[in-house]
Amino acid sequence: MEMDSLRKLYVDELKDLYSAEKQILQALPRMAKKAKNAQLKQAFELHLQETQKQVERLDQVFELLGKSPRGKKCKGMEGLIEEGKEVIDMKADDEVRDAGLIAAAQKVEHYEIAGYGTVRTYAELLGERDAAKLLQQTLDEEGATDKKLSQLAESSINVEAAVEA
Ligand code: FE
Ligand code: FE
Repeated sequence: MEMDSLRKLYVDELKDLYSAEKQILQALPRMAKKAKNAQLKQAFELHLQETQKQVERLDQVFELLGKSPRGKKCKGMEGLIEEGKEVIDMKADDEVRDAGLIAAAQKVEHYEIAGYGTVRTYAELLGERDAAKLLQQTLDEEGATDKKLSQLAESSINVEAAVEA
């Protein structure tokens, strides 16, 4: 398909995010299972529930557009999740692995924040106000998750990981 309009690019970026969220839905349970810190485990479990709602929001956005969300694989997220798997499988102290899980998860959140910020801005420009609102809600959730992960890392998990065994 020739990208001859911002609207086409908008749909393409939305499909990328849809694929990204679907991949995250598969990855988050593995991250939650591997996390040793109870608060981190809980944060991953909560974000899994949020991610389910984010997929529903994207479904609504595609419904507004009268288009299918399918047809694209987000290679960026595939790579980030692959890196997350390396953390899950590495031989490590529990505290160090938890710090690594946070690092992997924050890379995922930053990818999403970039993606949702972009499509929210396109939606506003294209006059898609309902879609822009839905996308802003998800953008806010991703931002809050990123902040929460930073707080967990800085208040305890990184500190514990820094203690030599
Ligand atoms: Fe998400
Ligand atoms: Fe997220």
